[in-house]
Amino acid sequence: ASKNAGRGVCSVFEPALDQAARDRAILDSELRCAVARREFVVHYQPIVDLRSGAVRTMEALVRWRHPTRGLVPPGEFIPFAEQSLLISQIGEFVLEQACADAAAWPRDVKVAVNVSPLQFRQSNMFATVARILERTGLAPGRLEIEITESLLMERAEATLATLQALRALGVSISLDDFGTGFSSLTYLRSFPFDKIKIDRAFTQAIGADPASHAIIDTIVALGSRLGMRVTAEGVENATQMRYLADIGCNEGQGYYFSHGRPADELDELLDAGKGRIAA
Ligand code: C2E
Ligand code: MG
Ligand code: MG
Ligand code: MG
Repeated sequence: ASKNAGRGVCSVFEPALDQAARDRAILDSELRCAVARREFVVHYQPIVDLRSGAVRTMEALVRWRHPTRGLVPPGEFIPFAEQSLLISQIGEFVLEQACADAAAWPRDVKVAVNVSPLQFRQSNMFATVARILERTGLAPGRLEIEITESLLMERAEATLATLQALRALGVSISLDDFGTGFSSLTYLRSFPFDKIKIDRAFTQAIGADPASHAIIDTIVALGSRLGMRVTAEGVENATQMRYLADIGCNEGQGYYFSHGRPADELDELLDAGKGRIAA
């Protein structure tokens, strides 16, 4: 980072570093600029009730509107931002934007926001969420926070206390990418999640891989026993959608219903009274 790497000052000057270190320094500097210039945009992808076809929730997915590279997906900068304090600034921007956008939607549609474990630890998450809800006027019951089990791997007590406090406020907590990490079942016992999201790797094996059927069936049954809703991620075709609906999976999310879209292109999904996009 340069001496001028302060707020709003954007310079890239890193001699005598090898290529990889130089690339990291450039990305770091560019991300700092992006935060200062508010170059991030939030897209929304619907999560659909598989019984009624109604849109229940919109998941906020951040993109970086890069001055020369175009719209950069989160996988290309979130992991990097997690190595510095930038993740908290980006995360707070997304949370505020998402709550502000959702405040204008029909009241039966919620917004889901991904929160990185590092963001969760760096900032006072409860105070941040409470302040943003207050400022945007969004009812707490319309916000879902999506976390991954890696959040629960360290500092479990402080984390659980924060999750409990958010829940007491009325915010729902979802366990994202379920089935991809370590000892997931332990985490299901440690916190009463409102929702489990089955990772798209399992959904995409429907019709191809009997083992994945067994796993999905089991997660859906488990969610039902634990009183948690279950959402399948990555639904791309009617076969997957029907299979999930048949076994009683509550919700689906994926390109079959819609890609993520900018906030001003959600009207047909949000249309009051209709709100139905399942085939
Ligand atoms: P995620 O939370 O599991 O979000 C779902 C990802 O799957 C999104 O990718 C979405 O575009 C993609 N997806 C949805 N339906 C389908 C489908 O049918 N097929 C396939 N192949 N993919 C589908 P995206 O937007 O690139 O986001 C990737 C990840 O980046 C997210 O995974 C989440 O972990 C993270 N992320 C996104 N926005 C934020 C954010 O604001 N904060 C944090 N901390 N992480 C974020
Ligand atoms: Mg998510
Ligand atoms: Mg996910
Ligand atoms: Mg995922």
